[in-house]
Amino acid sequence: MRITAAVVEELHGPFVVREVELDEPGPGDVLVKVAATGFCHTDGIARDGDLPFPLPGVLGHEGAGTVVAVGDGVTGVREGQDVVLGWPSCGACRNCRAGEPRYCLRMGELVGGGHRLDGASALRGTDGSPLASHFFGQSSFGTYAMTTASSLVPVPAGLPVELLGPLACGLATGAGAVLNTLRPEPGSSIVVYGAGTVGLAAVMAARSSAATTVIAVDRHAGRLRLAEGLGATHTVDATETDPVAAVTEICGGPADASLDCTGNLAVIRQAIDSVGMLGTALLIGGAPAGAEFTADHLTTLWGKTIRGTLGGSGHGQQLIAALMDLHLQGRFPFDQLVQYFPLDRIEDAVEASYSGAVVKPILTMPH
Ligand SMILES: [Zn+2]
Ligand SMILES: [Zn+2]
Repeated sequence: MRITAAVVEELHGPFVVREVELDEPGPGDVLVKVAATGFCHTDGIARDGDLPFPLPGVLGHEGAGTVVAVGDGVTGVREGQDVVLGWPSCGACRNCRAGEPRYCLRMGELVGGGHRLDGASALRGTDGSPLASHFFGQSSFGTYAMTTASSLVPVPAGLPVELLGPLACGLATGAGAVLNTLRPEPGSSIVVYGAGTVGLAAVMAARSSAATTVIAVDRHAGRLRLAEGLGATHTVDATETDPVAAVTEICGGPADASLDCTGNLAVIRQAIDSVGMLGTALLIGGAPAGAEFTADHLTTLWGKTIRGTLGGSGHGQQLIAALMDLHLQGRFPFDQLVQYFPLDRIEDAVEASYSGAVVKPILTMPH
């Protein structure tokens, strides 16, 4: 079938909105009419080659929409159902079977292979030329996306589907880091470096946790104001002050936990230095491929944990469903972070994301 999609033709190239051909759903496939898709920095990272994905191809991994057709053998979703397109997993490897599908051992192929897990690409040019599909199992920068049932999360009544795609990646990543990985103890302190989508999701989740001190650090005053409104008890402007010293002052010593949501190597070090004995520094932000960070050896020996986390860990479907419920209850007001752009203005959305003008751009599809 003919669809409209934003195609990246070459490394570092622009998103070109044009018509492409998408397969009809085969065995195990689910065809989703995409309502909207968030733009995430990971799409930019893939365009620039720091996350391998064959080009030309279609990116996009924060989609939400309506199931319009299912292939043979598909159970669990039906036509007409509104869904969030979550992260893919193989369902069969050791980590999937252990209940950690975010750490699926076939994740590399699933997110960046450019084709179905054990099959061909679902996309091609209108002239039949090759085009990579299935970025994060969806390639949702298009009017329709081919995915699999196991990654889909049904949308409860009362929520606008076009808002929900970012729950699959950036928002689940930040919220899951707190709720699944950190699990803060009563009265604990958390410092969040970087008040973008991931960091602000962590702040909102921390507010729904037992942590009582939630510090947001950023270099944009506007984002710090946003963090305050979303539940940060303290904010630190890193352009004005040394954040590690500021955290120590606020907490009366090191923080119990820190989250780096920037991927900036200097900030990662600050996050590690912000926690003390038995503290945990969580690394979430995406740094360029091959990046290495440093830590002080002696203070790491003091029972410190430096831990990475991916996509919010745990069961994505359970987490995304919980975030939708929290949003309905007014406890996860991520709608404050978004701004909508039509698909043909995707380059404006990218620019707004990189400049910091918009926390979470969402691309709406022409239908
Ligand atoms: Zn797996
Ligand atoms: Zn993402």
